[in-house]
Order: sequence, then C-alpha cells, then structure tokens
Amino acid sequence: MGRSDQHSRPVPTGWGYFQIFAESLSSVLFPSACRLCESPLLRLSRLPVCDTCIDSTQSFDSPRCTICGEVVNSPHVSEGEILCGMCKRAKPRFARAFAYGSYDGTLRGLIHLLKYQQIKTAAKPLGRFLASGMAGFSGYGDLTLLVIPVPLFGAKQRQRGFNQAELLSHEALQHLNSWRPIGFELHTGNLKRVRSTVSQTGLTSHQRRMNVRGAFALSKPHLVQRRNVLLIDDVYTTGTTLNECARVLRSGGAERVWVATVARVLRHHEGRVLSPPSMHAVDQGRKEPALQSLR
Ligand SMILES: [Zn+2]
Ligand SMILES: [Zn+2]
Repeated sequence: MGRSDQHSRPVPTGWGYFQIFAESLSSVLFPSACRLCESPLLRLSRLPVCDTCIDSTQSFDSPRCTICGEVVNSPHVSEGEILCGMCKRAKPRFARAFAYGSYDGTLRGLIHLLKYQQIKTAAKPLGRFLASGMAGFSGYGDLTLLVIPVPLFGAKQRQRGFNQAELLSHEALQHLNSWRPIGFELHTGNLKRVRSTVSQTGLTSHQRRMNVRGAFALSKPHLVQRRNVLLIDDVYTTGTTLNECARVLRSGGAERVWVATVARVLRHHEGRVLSPPSMHAVDQGRKEPALQSLR
C-alpha cells in the first residue's frame, strides 16, 4: 500500500481542525476593499462591507400602503388606512407587510452578497434591520407569534447551502432577544415548498399567481391553528409568493398572518417607475433610524 492510498483515507482529526482553522482564517481575511463602494476597509472583518455603507441604509419615510407597504403617490386616508390600488382591488391574505427599506443601494448590495456570493456574515446587519420591523409586531395579539421563514425548494436550498429567510430570522431573533424578551417562536420545517417555481420576473400578475399556486404546503397544519404568524423573507418583490404562503397558512387554520422583510421592491415612486438600482448607489450621510412602531 502506497502513501497515496493512506491519503485517500478519512482525514485525521488534527488535519480536520487545521482545515477548519484555515477556512475561518480565509473568511476573516477578506480583500481590503468594501464590496459595495470599493473604499478601503480599515479593519479586518468577516463582512467585506465598510461601516459607511452599513450606516447609509435608510428605512422608508414616504407615505405607504397600510397593508402591503407600496409607496402611494397621492395618499387618500380612510378610517386611518392608506391603501394602494392593488390592495383596494383585492386585499392580500396577510394583514400587513413590513419592509425595512427599499430594495436598492446598500440593502440590495448586502442581500446580493448573502444570496449570490454566500457571504453569510451579511445576514448580521440585515437581521438587525429585519429585527426593527419585527419588534413592531410584538404587541399584536397576546399569543406568542410563530416566526415562519419562507421556505426554499429542496434542490435550491442544497445549491445555495442555506435558506436566507431562515438565516435572517435567526439573526433578527438573536438581536431582539438581546434587548428585550418578546414572544417570538421560530417555527421551521412545517411550511414546505413542495415544488419548484420559475422566476416571477416578466410574468403577469395572473401568471405569477398560477406559478406559485400549490407550491407550498403545511406538513403539520394543527401546529398553526389559531396562531398568529409572522412570515419572513429577504425581499418583498410583488407579494405573490408571500400572499400564497399566507393563503396556505390561513387555510391551515392560522388566525392572522403578518409579513416582515428586509427590503421591498417599489413599483412606482413619485409617479415614475424606479430605474434598476445600482450596487454602488449608496446614499451617504444618513444614519439608521430609530426602531419603527407599526401601531
Ligand atoms: Zn462601502
Ligand atoms: Zn397595498
């Protein structure tokens, strides 16, 4: 038996430890430029994004739909509610959707680093932004809220290595628990994506609904019965997927469903369609605002 045969055997524990050490070292020593604005990073960090970029993220400050959070250009308030055209025509199956900010600039950059470059440390600041939205839901109802991340289809999750909605939920809950005890209970594995769906991009609203129809199922519906659910995702795009999840949860017996996402794609803003956001479109000089209440 030659040396090469010995090398193909399971690695000794010591070597395994060295590999783990080497991997964690390489993840600490990122290149010295911010991945979003390219300015030099002044200190070693597991997240290759500068503090200026992180601090520049801003939450919404314009009038938005009470239910889905879309920007409403000429707000008409009736009974304390501002509704966008979509929600006026057909109310979603969720009661309310909160998004921290618009899906552009740093928020979009951080989400891309997490999802497409597998930089899991980006979930830390994103989870903090998500937490500020989740905190607003803690006063709704008197039961503990079930926090349910939107599931990925099995093959997709294996390809990415993780479910970003689940990772963000973990980070947000850690952040929430560090400053006050709130009744949130992370609930994964029950809501499942039972078939894959094609990208919603370019589909009509009818095609989008058909695309996700029947894509989700509850394996144990009794666990959501009469419960209040907070559905979590990274981005609210058209709301079709979240609406379908809410429909499945409510037909499983959930009392109410709310939605919290880090970011939201705005269809219209100030009467114009938003141009595609740039990875480098970073608004400087604005600090993270105080926690927002939804009540
Ligand atoms: Zn930067
Ligand atoms: Zn709306």
